[in-house]
Amino acid sequence: MPNSDLLARSLAAVWHPCTQMKRHETLPLVPIQRGESVWLYDFDGRRYLDAVSSWWVNLFGHCNPRINAAITDQLGRLEHVMLAGFTHEPVVQLSERLAQLAPAGLGHCFYASDGASATEIALKMSAHYWRNNGRPQKSTFVSLENSYHGETLGALSVTDVALFKDAYSVLVKQNATVPSPDWRKAEAGESAENFALRCASQLEAYLQQHHHTIAALIVEPLVQGAAGMAMYHPAYLQRARELCNQYEVHLIADEIAVGMGRTGTMFACEQAGIAPDFLLLSKGISGGYLPLSVVMTTDNVYQAFYADEVSRGFLHSHSYTGNPLACRAALATLDIFAEDDVLASNRSKSAYFNRIATPLRDHPKVRNFRNTGMIWAFEVDTSHPDFAQRCFTLALEQELLLRPMGNTIYFMPPYIISEAEMDMLLARTLAIVQQLT
Ligand SMILES: *Cc1c(COP(=O)(O)O)cnc(C)c1O
Repeated sequence: MPNSDLLARSLAAVWHPCTQMKRHETLPLVPIQRGESVWLYDFDGRRYLDAVSSWWVNLFGHCNPRINAAITDQLGRLEHVMLAGFTHEPVVQLSERLAQLAPAGLGHCFYASDGASATEIALKMSAHYWRNNGRPQKSTFVSLENSYHGETLGALSVTDVALFKDAYSVLVKQNATVPSPDWRKAEAGESAENFALRCASQLEAYLQQHHHTIAALIVEPLVQGAAGMAMYHPAYLQRARELCNQYEVHLIADEIAVGMGRTGTMFACEQAGIAPDFLLLSKGISGGYLPLSVVMTTDNVYQAFYADEVSRGFLHSHSYTGNPLACRAALATLDIFAEDDVLASNRSKSAYFNRIATPLRDHPKVRNFRNTGMIWAFEVDTSHPDFAQRCFTLALEQELLLRPMGNTIYFMPPYIISEAEMDMLLARTLAIVQQLT
């Protein structure tokens, strides 16, 4: 049995992420042999619909023929070259195309390999910008309550998830948080927009008092993913942009999870009609194929580092910065967006799912059913002590990969999901909710 053998060897040799390893004494790992489209297959031929896009990275399915072909072609030309002192076609093309797609003014791309590194880069770049401009005291950051920007030490300093942070708090610099515009927290009868504006005035009060020491505000535009898919009104972003201008604070838009079409527009910031000073992309940028992240910034920021002294330059590097294979995967991903008019097709898929989701939305034990683009989430009214784990296990039995956060179930499927697959996802999730309540 390759299956049980692989499980035992994995538990002996691999320390799995975001996992209390002891739980695997009772909870088996899921060994995956291959993937195709929205499906993952194990060694016994069982299949699982990847309703969370393998931690929010996969956009166009597993083993997508077009992305496979692009990477294979690149593999025969150049697998990697260092990006300090050297350059190559894929990284140049990707930078040019991203600059055309992104909100205006973000014409300079700095690359890394994962989301947390993109956060680190933006924080360092912002503080260094103020230092180069003779204002070194502007060196702290503000994030929203329940924010998530990655788990390296700098990124943790702007992440507000106790479980990820508490054990490491002695290592992490303290930064401030301001109230999250998450509409679930609105008063009864208060609209999402009014609540967003009320939260923005709390941001205003904070900036008014502390702007002298603040380098940047960092936000996850429209959807705070790890907070449990907390969604909010774009009016917050509009107001935040105005306030950041007024108080001379950078605005960092962490679109690592929400960028690349996930919220219905290519970038979530578009829905507020704003451009940030730093735009962070990762996760879906390579279609879910290879680790790649990018920090896009303005000419104003770039010019603050452009000088004769090396020490005024932005001194940051990763070995695999701008890896050609990852950049080709990203270019193939952008090609699919253009050739298949993916944003339009997602709009009709999203509308279809909202139509068929009525029984789930109206279920007596379901609360806060919500949707932004290709993200859906809801809370299940349950006193089940281990709801998330139980739901995960039941879902596998139903051929679904769901990974609830607490009592929040969410769907973040690959964009190539079909109507029949959405029907199945919905019907089986309803059955699971029914069974657990
Ligand atoms: C996943 C995520 C990150 C961190 O990305 P990694 O590649 O996991 O380091 C940062 N910000 C947001 C909003 C994310 O969803």
